[in-house]
Amino acid sequence: MKQQLKLYNTLSRKKEVFQPIDPNVIGMYVCGPTVYGDAHLGHAKSYVSFDLVFRYLSHIFPKVKYVQNITDVGHLTDDADEGDDKIAKQSRLEKVDPMAVVEKYMFNYFRDMDALNVLRADIYPRPSGHIPEQIEIIQNLIEKGFAYVVNGSVYFDVAQYNQNHNYGKLSGRTIEEMMEGAANRTLAAQSEKKNSFDFALWKKANDSHLMQWNSPWGKGYPGWHIECTVMSQKYLGENFDIHGGGLENSFPHHECEIAQAEAHTGKAFANYWLHNNMVTINGQKMGKSLGNGIFCNELFTGENFQLTRAYSPMTVRFFILQSHYRSTLDFSNEALEAASKGLERLQKGLQRLDQLHSSGKSTLNVKEWEAKLYAAMNDDFNSPVSIAHLFDALKWIAAIADGKEQLNEQDLNHFKSTFKTFYFDILGLQLEEKSTASNEVVNDLMKLVIDFRNAAKVQKDYATADKIRDELKALNITVKDGKDGAEWQFEN
Ligand code: ZN
Repeated sequence: MKQQLKLYNTLSRKKEVFQPIDPNVIGMYVCGPTVYGDAHLGHAKSYVSFDLVFRYLSHIFPKVKYVQNITDVGHLTDDADEGDDKIAKQSRLEKVDPMAVVEKYMFNYFRDMDALNVLRADIYPRPSGHIPEQIEIIQNLIEKGFAYVVNGSVYFDVAQYNQNHNYGKLSGRTIEEMMEGAANRTLAAQSEKKNSFDFALWKKANDSHLMQWNSPWGKGYPGWHIECTVMSQKYLGENFDIHGGGLENSFPHHECEIAQAEAHTGKAFANYWLHNNMVTINGQKMGKSLGNGIFCNELFTGENFQLTRAYSPMTVRFFILQSHYRSTLDFSNEALEAASKGLERLQKGLQRLDQLHSSGKSTLNVKEWEAKLYAAMNDDFNSPVSIAHLFDALKWIAAIADGKEQLNEQDLNHFKSTFKTFYFDILGLQLEEKSTASNEVVNDLMKLVIDFRNAAKVQKDYATADKIRDELKALNITVKDGKDGAEWQFEN
């Protein structure tokens, strides 16, 4: 199965058979968030998508070393070399230190991703903790003639690099096109650069700049792109397997990462580039300026004017996985309602699955069904198709329960374990324990138990009444006798 994994490589614009550098340890780097605000639906789509990739690779290979950065400095508001640092800007709005902004939103990010059952990466490096490494590589680029210093800032010389390399190979842009595009812009500071398409490796900081470090070129801070080149290579090696990120980052961010890395080492950087597509809201692009963004936390609480109700984190995760990671995902309440119902059906199927019994000769082909599940995942992590095969299995579960179909013991065990492997381990779905339906059942059952206990007390059978109370306590349920009768609650 391993040999058959195909993934769409943005570099070649086609699906390729995945050939790892070392099949014992797959190296994967994914661009993480710039933590100046809470994670929104777009972040959820990106990190659930790469969680699926990580989970599936971990399933078919012995080990995946997963590195994801947390950007805490250098990401400017216009995504290029101009404007304010996003975190410094937020720190002025919130009247706290930039690093307090980073701490707050980084922990919020983990809170939301944990809720979505996104597995943690092995390492979350931050650029502020890798200033010496970044300076070292920038110096090397200057020495090799790929970068130049102007007035305390350092820029990458794209035209120089392009003489022996192909700047634009990831995004498919050419320097000529970039020249035309840039000619229309009149950004003042671009005069510092030899060419408008050159990009900053290091930016000079004025005294009021909140985050700055000493460097051979004076006080300043690193550019946004250099952190990913430096930190991915530090933890995964100069050439590694997979680099992922949002499609919107393929240019300029990822193009710049490649240029820096390949100019520095003279070797190929990441072998496979994976990009997830974006989220639209009711068919419209999601954006701050449009005011239609939805934070993960708002999805979970329902506190956003665009939401008709709260959706559980697993509903959101399932909704994301129901579309392919390279497709756009359109949010609507209707789509989330449908996801919620679909997930509930799968969960009920799981519960029924455990109650099935084997009998006689198998009338269903479990191996063939399993092969389809793997074929879907091996086809560029096609989660919607693998989910469709799980829905097919629900029909089997019903037919086996009704005695219309049967599986022998071996096949039934294999059917159960494959269903669970895909549901829990690969798709990363969890059972939602606190659903309203099960809460109602618990309430009714507790009412029954407390009625029994009251009846015992009325008959002065205190031994039975105490036994009920003590055994409930062992289940972490406390019963308190009050003047309006007994009350119960779960202990925390
Ligand atoms: Zn990055």
